[in-house]
Amino acid sequence: MTPKIASFLDTQPETPCLVLDLDRVAENYAALRRALPAAKIYYAVKANPAAPILRLLAEQGACFDAASLPEIEQCLAAGAAADSISFGNTVKKASAIAAAHAHGVPLYAFDSAEELDKIAAHAPGAKVYCRIAVNNAGAEWPLSKKFGTTCARAKALLLAAPAMGLVPHGLSFHVGSQQTGAEAYKLAIAEVAMLFTDLKNHGVELKMLNLGGGFPIRYQEDVPEADQFGSAIMTAMTQHFGNDLPDMLLEPGRAMVGNAGVVAAEAVLVCQRMPEDERRWVYLDIGRYGGLAETEGEAIRYRISAGTGPMGPVVLAGPSCDGVDVIYEKTPYHLPLDLKTGDRVLIHDTGAYVTTYASQNFNGFAPLQEYYV
Ligand SMILES: *Cc1c(COP(=O)(O)O)cnc(C)c1O
Repeated sequence: MTPKIASFLDTQPETPCLVLDLDRVAENYAALRRALPAAKIYYAVKANPAAPILRLLAEQGACFDAASLPEIEQCLAAGAAADSISFGNTVKKASAIAAAHAHGVPLYAFDSAEELDKIAAHAPGAKVYCRIAVNNAGAEWPLSKKFGTTCARAKALLLAAPAMGLVPHGLSFHVGSQQTGAEAYKLAIAEVAMLFTDLKNHGVELKMLNLGGGFPIRYQEDVPEADQFGSAIMTAMTQHFGNDLPDMLLEPGRAMVGNAGVVAAEAVLVCQRMPEDERRWVYLDIGRYGGLAETEGEAIRYRISAGTGPMGPVVLAGPSCDGVDVIYEKTPYHLPLDLKTGDRVLIHDTGAYVTTYASQNFNGFAPLQEYYV
């Protein structure tokens, strides 16, 4: 926890709340730029669309990967130029494409013929890029089951784009979120490089490769540093593209904001619920519906603290009346034996993928408060 967050928490804000240190976001942005200076950074807005974050990144010259018209408008309101925005969702409403086009957003993602038709109809002349489904092994929050197509289909669609009045601009992939190894990027780069060559031989010269997001942050376990990903990516790029490098885009979400935030929560109930289970149940005032959606399947295992002293095993759950609202039951968690009802519990590295996942008043609970310091 940073000193700024610690001193804000000393004011005893009502919980649950997220406190996020903007200096940390600036540091993360600078570290990613250093790790991969050849790439342009498009912040994946969905990770945390708070205005102070968007303003800071726009001021630093970052670009933005937006998934919807409201995200595009949030970027514009934060001072981003329309031409620094990519409409990166492969699933867009026709009306959103038309509005983005009217705003001057230049870049559109697709992974199907049907979406390409929509873009041609509502954003004539736009630059399009096709998302390839690549191996997501090593990712703790995979994405490739839902997005991306094959290289063969991408080739056919990009060859068809000019006749539809579109500019075939590039390819993209996403190796899965919280990707713990650089190998996935190397494999993906090798695969898309062949398609670049193939398309060039057919008269379509792509200009851009979007490497997506995926860079991990440290939750419980160490992960490789951004530098290690950066050098693995650059090595693979030069190996497969030689001196003829395309424009490289990187779309970090988690790595930009995750470690900048801490959620302060309260233990609403600490109890020994079942006689045969030695573990205490700790019910917090935030759970799956309060924003901790990535604890689904216990995929993301946050670091959780509540003071020092002798520790004992716990099950962690949310405050709602829903049976699915258990945060960690299989993953071993330990909290102080003297933890009692009303005590504060901190959930670390919750700057990404938390605030916007909070439900609207399920069981009457308001979405968590957010403070940007
Ligand atoms: C979610 C998303 C990202 C960000 O992924 P992280 O793993 O958080 O870096 C980047 N690009 C696209 C298209 C996404 O959907």
